[in-house]
This record gives sequence, structure tokens and C-alpha cells, in this order.
Amino acid sequence: MHPRPRPIPLPARRRHPRRSGPAVVPGGSTDGGGGADGRTRGAAARTSSTALAAAALLAACSGSDADDPAADADAAAVVVMASFYPLQFVVERVGGEHVSVDNLTPPGADPHSLELSPAEVAQLESVDLVTYVPGLQAATDDAIGVTDPAAVLDAAEAAGVAEDDLARDPHFWLDPTLVVPLVDGVADTLGDLDPENAEDYAERSADLVAELTDLDDAYREGLAACAGATLVTSHEAFGYLAERDGLEQVGISGIDPEVEPSPARLREVGEVVRAEGVQTLYFEVIAGPDVVEALAADLDVDTDVLDPIEGQTDPDADYLDVMRSNLAALERGLVCDG
Ligand SMILES: [Zn+2]
Repeated sequence: MHPRPRPIPLPARRRHPRRSGPAVVPGGSTDGGGGADGRTRGAAARTSSTALAAAALLAACSGSDADDPAADADAAAVVVMASFYPLQFVVERVGGEHVSVDNLTPPGADPHSLELSPAEVAQLESVDLVTYVPGLQAATDDAIGVTDPAAVLDAAEAAGVAEDDLARDPHFWLDPTLVVPLVDGVADTLGDLDPENAEDYAERSADLVAELTDLDDAYREGLAACAGATLVTSHEAFGYLAERDGLEQVGISGIDPEVEPSPARLREVGEVVRAEGVQTLYFEVIAGPDVVEALAADLDVDTDVLDPIEGQTDPDADYLDVMRSNLAALERGLVCDG
């Protein structure tokens, strides 16, 4: 059922009690009484041999400063590395001009199968804050385990996603109501790291929360008649969205889009499609339509795109835009009452 291995446990020093506030883990906890000043620790980390090796690697490998988040650091109060697009979006919107944010997952790449070079891993120690979703990307989990970032924000914890829910399905950002607490957590974290601009972060986060609330309303209205409808997707990424809107998700490929469905799985999905009168099979942009189009042709039904927003496939469409296109695709293709 679940093709991904369980998330790799983080080293014991990063385990910490769950709490309701922003999930900032200051780098290194061996000094015990150092308080929450992640930047002081970050400065110490920069002088470590790991960081020196990192600097050497960056100098050797990067050729230009274009991909070096530290290059924008002079202008920005806080330099952030996000592990994939939705986190980049939230940090950019909340941080505005005070924050420089880079993304570990290249545009168009599948974040589940991300691989990081030693230089990319080393970058985690040159930024003020790293934010990621544990269990989504093994490469990021590993990189955070072997480096000592100045501060780490566990986005799933900030969003209030329970650990067992996250282990079952990491795609919580497809439910806007779970992005709202993440936005607040990002604002609090940036405010802690950069108190001078804390008011700006709070204002920007309130604007984004208002947009997310409108988006949530649009989903509730748009899918009000769809409770019980069957949602057949290539990539089983829409569990949180399906649960909140009362849809039954049937995944063709599973949680990890790179795992090819077996012939037996395709037959099972075909049986559900016939039994439930499903008219549209959804595929995602990054994994491509091949398997889904072949199955749809077999079953004589339509296909449409549902984007799990793991990367930004169109630079002119942000998270909110893609969530709205997803809603339109669901309204077009789901078999609902009335
Ligand atoms: Zn996914």
C-alpha cells in the first residue's frame, strides 16, 4: 500500500517535545543552556570544519553565485532554504522583501525522488533557517540529519499535522485549512529570527491567511454537492483534500508517483471506475499522463490534470492559482449530485 519507507528518524538531539508554538529547532543542543538564539549557533556552525568544507565545495562546484542562497544574504534580513515549492511560496509571501528564499527541489523535478549533491547539503549550514516536511523527501531528512542548520522549521508540525497522519500521507498542503497554521508558524519564526520586521511578517501572514480562507470557501462551495464522489488520481496525493470535502480517493500509482501500478492494481481501479460511474481520471503534470491515458482509453473515460503542487510547473501560477485550477478540474470531472 505504502511504497515509501517510513521516514528516517532524525538524530536524538533533534527530537523535542511537541508544542503549540512555531516548531523551530535551534541548531545543535549540546550546549544545553544556549536559549533560542539560532543565529549565534549558526555563526558558530559556520566556523566548524563541516562548514569550511562546505565553503570549499561551494567555491569548487558552483561556478557562479546564481544558486548560492548566501549571495542574496546581504540584502535580506533572513536567508531561508525551503525543501520544496509550497514552503517556498509561504516563506516568500510572509517574508516579502526582508527574506531571501531558495528551494532545494529544482522546478519540474519530483520532490519525492530528490537527490542532493554534497554542495547542496552543505548549503543548509549557510542559511538562517531551513524548512521542510519530514518523511516527504528522504534526501532532505538525511541532509538535515548530517548538518547543523542555524534553525529548522518542521512545516508539518507547524501546520499541526499529527505524526501518524504525516507518515501515511505527507501532502497536507493540499488542504488550505492546514496551510493557515503553517503561515502563522512561518510568521512567528521569521519574527523570532528578525524581530525588527516582526510586524511586517504578521501583516503579510494575515493577508495570506485571508486568501487561504477565501480559497477554502471556494472549495467548500464548489464541491458541496460532491460528497461521496470518487476521485481517481494517478498520484495518491489528495487524501487531506478528499477527506475534508467528503471525496473517496482512489490512487492509481500510490503516494509516490514514481512507483508504477501493477496490472492487478489497474484492474482494481477499472472495476471501481465502472462500479462508481467515474467519468474522469486525473493525472499530474510532473509524473506525466501515460499510464492514466492508457487506462482511460481502455475504460472509455476522460482525463484531466490535478496538480499536487510539489513543484511550480508554471512560473506565472502560484500555489493559490494552482489550487483554483485544481478546483475547476474537480468541478469539471467529478460526478456530483445536481
Ligand atoms: Zn507527492
